[in-house]
Amino acid sequence: MTQSVSADVLSRLKAALGEGGWSQDPDRLEPKLKEWRGRWTGRTPLLALPRTTAQVAAVVGICAAEGVAITPQGGNTGLVAGQIPQGEILLSTEKLAAVRDVDAFDDVMVLEAGVTLARAHEVAASVNRRFPLSLASEGSCTIGGLASTNAGGTAVLRYGVMRDQILGIEAVLPSGEVWNGLKRLRKDNTGYDLKQLLIGAEGTLGIITAASLKLQPILASRCVAVAGVASAQDAIALLARAKDESGGAVEAFELMSRLGVVLAIKNIPGLREPLAEAHPWYVLIETASGEPGAAEAAMERLLSGALEAGLIQDATVAQTQAQAHALWAVRENQSGGQKPEGAAWKHDVSVPVSKVAAFIDQANAAVERLSPGVRIVAFGHVGDGNVHYDVLRAEGAPDDPHDALRDQGARIVHDIVAAMDGSISAEHGLGAMKSAEAVGYKSPVEVAALRAVREALDPRRIMNPRVLF
Ligand SMILES: Cc1cc2nc3c(=O)[nH]c(=O)nc-3n(C[C@H](O)[C@H](O)[C@H](O)COP(=O)(O)OP(=O)(O)OC[C@H]3O[C@@H](n4cnc5c(N)ncnc54)[C@H](O)[C@@H]3O)c2cc1C
Repeated sequence: MTQSVSADVLSRLKAALGEGGWSQDPDRLEPKLKEWRGRWTGRTPLLALPRTTAQVAAVVGICAAEGVAITPQGGNTGLVAGQIPQGEILLSTEKLAAVRDVDAFDDVMVLEAGVTLARAHEVAASVNRRFPLSLASEGSCTIGGLASTNAGGTAVLRYGVMRDQILGIEAVLPSGEVWNGLKRLRKDNTGYDLKQLLIGAEGTLGIITAASLKLQPILASRCVAVAGVASAQDAIALLARAKDESGGAVEAFELMSRLGVVLAIKNIPGLREPLAEAHPWYVLIETASGEPGAAEAAMERLLSGALEAGLIQDATVAQTQAQAHALWAVRENQSGGQKPEGAAWKHDVSVPVSKVAAFIDQANAAVERLSPGVRIVAFGHVGDGNVHYDVLRAEGAPDDPHDALRDQGARIVHDIVAAMDGSISAEHGLGAMKSAEAVGYKSPVEVAALRAVREALDPRRIMNPRVLF
């Protein structure tokens, strides 16, 4: 959507934001208009940098009255282009970054939307607690962005997604009114739950300005290991065994293919082979327990039993923090390792855990038929049934023909996912990239109901108009 915003509206927005609260300086705007991989570039008549909820409300109020569209942005780490404006006012939460409260008795912290995930971890640690959500973009991604995309990450198996961490929300609705829903209750059955609508809404139903978040105890023991397995099916069998035997100690269960490990080691300096010999697939497992030594004991039992049963080919257990970080670094660079290899078709899908191996087999065969020689890197939070299924061009082939097949490739992969009752966006959201496609995978009844909710809250469709339904 291209919109022209009148000089009068711009000057009222600037006045509401005050000195230092807005910018039109191309150098200041540039990093906020570029997606981190360079796939999308945006444009905006004004970068709004509110410092308070009242300033957010003033901006949204003016825009609502004038029918001016807004794109909210947190850390700009989103992977589906929902945070990149195409002519809308860009409202950044960069300066909305106060810690309002942290309380170990209620096990809650109240953070403003622009607080980064890394800072949230520090705030929780300051009262001897833990905020369990964990993703590789933690240095930049923000509480508002995480809530708006209902982010997942590596600890979902035990703690759930962002939705499960949120007790309350404060937001500015598309009318410009402030809703203070910053409760810290574990139980509140009083009808429709407005915060649940805002979570995962990708900025279409309002701007989240703060959230109250659950804190968890710090666990006394933690153990990280990597196992080599012969097939994705064996990885799933290992997961079932881990769930049966560990008494809930498994916190992360991540799958990597041999090619993903090879590319990470080739292209990211400092990474090393996790195991002495190559294996077709690798599983990174993290166990944690409240009892000292119990995480290590659970891992030891799991790996020795699985080795004896022929389910794993080899394994290594980190003996130090540095070794644990080195094993995680291979997993966290599964995406980064692909970058120098050229264009990739990326899919963030989920299927029932029991169907992960069948999904990979079927998708591999289908994309190989479409484009012979393509290289497939499948990895991800397989304990949640979430596969990042990335398809790279054949070695030495030019990027262009590969790029041209991207949409066809996505349709093939997503049709397989849909046939397995899966989701075409497991954790990244739909953004501007996948919204139109997602309509085709939802029932007309559902799409109509979702559109009615949006229409009721935002009749002029000013909030992130290019995103969702
Ligand atoms: C290296 C890397 C690893 C990643 N790993 C994971 C992973 O494991 N799991 C996962 O789920 N995601 C992952 N992501 C994706 C990304 O980090 C998440 O989507 C994150 O939640 C986005 O937060 P952000 O603050 O950067 O939001 P942005 O990118 O700025 O925005 C994302 C969306 O939220 C909206 N939004 C932002 N702030 C607000 C607000 N305050 N109110 C209303 N709407 C708002 C935007 O309009 C946009 O639609 C990864 C990204 C990178 C770069």
